[in-house]
Amino acid sequence: MITKLNLTIANVYIVVGARPVVVDTGAPGSAPKILAALAKQGFQPADVGLILLTHAHSDHAGSAAALRQATGAPVAIHHGDLAMLRRGDNGRMLPTDFEARLSQRFVDKPFPALEPDIVLDNGSDLRALGLDADLLPTPGHSSGSISLLFANGDAIVGDILRGGLMGGTFLSSRPTYPFFLYDLADKAVIHASVQAVLDRRVQRLFTGHGGPLSRPEVERWLANQRKHSTSL
Ligand SMILES: [Zn+2]
Ligand SMILES: [Zn+2]
Repeated sequence: MITKLNLTIANVYIVVGARPVVVDTGAPGSAPKILAALAKQGFQPADVGLILLTHAHSDHAGSAAALRQATGAPVAIHHGDLAMLRRGDNGRMLPTDFEARLSQRFVDKPFPALEPDIVLDNGSDLRALGLDADLLPTPGHSSGSISLLFANGDAIVGDILRGGLMGGTFLSSRPTYPFFLYDLADKAVIHASVQAVLDRRVQRLFTGHGGPLSRPEVERWLANQRKHSTSL
């Protein structure tokens, strides 16, 4: 039901319900790859019912404008990231480790700005928008980051966690801090967001980079970070 597209920098997910929903859109230039993946599943561009962004960073929202143009589907984002999407910039991105510093030059770029069609808040009903999932606000990586919780125990969590090294090339199921935090002092906010996902009995976490992550791995990771959480 959830298909993961491993694009150059970040993952894009296609969730097939009554109509396919595209969750995140990759960096600028990714729309043709997403349309090709949809075609492979037998879908025309006009079949897409919704384009949902987990947050407004260039590696997730970068092709939202192009994909909307190609499909006619509405774009939805949480109001916490609305200003970034409207400006086409990433806001503040503080790298959490060496690999993040290396990737910053690829990720921290302007992207085509966009006025979304739907602005979500913490209580928005995704089912009314054609996605059979619960919305959970999971701030920390950006203030408007959201996770999507499915009844079967799967969740798409955007960048609240990352899987493995080199975008998941190595150890892709090992939980790691996201590449960037809005505020490095706010690790506790990320911890709380990860905990909120676990509290909803999620078993498998689909991340924006690498992954997926299993619940036991994430539980272990969170317990460890809380024990040693002094510096990144
Ligand atoms: Zn991000
Ligand atoms: Zn990302």
